[in-house]
Amino acid sequence: MQSPQSSEICYVLKTFPYKERDVIAVLLSEKRGRFSALARNGVQSRRFGGCLDLFTCSEFTLDPKTIRLSDIQEDILVQVLSAQLKRGPGISGSFEKLSGASALNEIILKVIPAQRPAPEIFKLYSNAILAIEEFPAEQTLKVVNAFILKITQWLGVQPSLTRCLACEKPLNEVPGNTVCAQVAQGAWICDSCRPDRAGMVLSKDTILDAYHSMLNPIRKIEFTASTKEHEEMLEFLEKHLQYFVPGLDRAPIGALRFLKSPQWQA
Ligand SMILES: [Zn+2]
Repeated sequence: MQSPQSSEICYVLKTFPYKERDVIAVLLSEKRGRFSALARNGVQSRRFGGCLDLFTCSEFTLDPKTIRLSDIQEDILVQVLSAQLKRGPGISGSFEKLSGASALNEIILKVIPAQRPAPEIFKLYSNAILAIEEFPAEQTLKVVNAFILKITQWLGVQPSLTRCLACEKPLNEVPGNTVCAQVAQGAWICDSCRPDRAGMVLSKDTILDAYHSMLNPIRKIEFTASTKEHEEMLEFLEKHLQYFVPGLDRAPIGALRFLKSPQWQA
C-alpha cells in the first residue's frame, strides 16, 4: 500500500552523508519551513541528478510519513522519493557568490526555527539567491547585509535606523557624514550627541542603504554605499545578531568571515 505523497518546491540548505549510500538533506519549503529529509541512495549522483546540490531549487516528491533514526540528533525526517530540478546551479565559479549564498544558508539554519511554515522567509531566501546569481559579484556583500536586515525584521529585532537615539533628529538633519552605531541599543547616535564617537562609526550612506533594505524587495534596492562601507555594516550586523538573537553569541555565522577577506578592502 502506498502512503500519500506530497510535492513541494524546496531549496537545499545543507546535506550530509548518512550510512553508506544515503544522504540527509536540510530543505526549505514554503509550507514546512526548514526541515530534514532522507534521500535513500542519495550518494549516487544519477538517483537525484543535481537536485541535492546546495542552493538549487527543485520539486521534491516526499513521503510525509516521518521516520526516526536513532543515531541522528536531527528531530524527525521525511523521505525524498524523487526530485526534479527547477533552478540551478546558478551559483558557481565565484568565491564571493558562493560565500554569500553559504552565509544565507547558515543564517537560515541557525536563526529560523525548524518545522515551522515561514512563507515570507522562503520568498526572501529565494529572492536573495536570485539576486546573488544575477548581480555582479561585488554586490554580494550588500545583498547579504540586506538579507540580514530583513531577517532581523522577521524576528522582530531590527535596528532602529531612522533617527538619532539621543536627539531624535532624522539622518538628513544631523551634521557630518558619519554616525556612531550602538550595538546594545540597536540604534545610532549622531556626531553632535556623541562627540567622542564611541561605538562603531558608519557612514550615512550605509545607514541609508540599510534603511532602504528594510523597506524594499531585495532585488529592487539601489545601494549607494561602497563595498568598504558595507563591510563595516556587516561588522555591525554581525554584532547586532549576536546581541539580539539567542544562541548566536555562542555559534556565530562562520561563512560571514569570507565576505570580509582582504581582497574586499578596495
Ligand atoms: Zn543626535
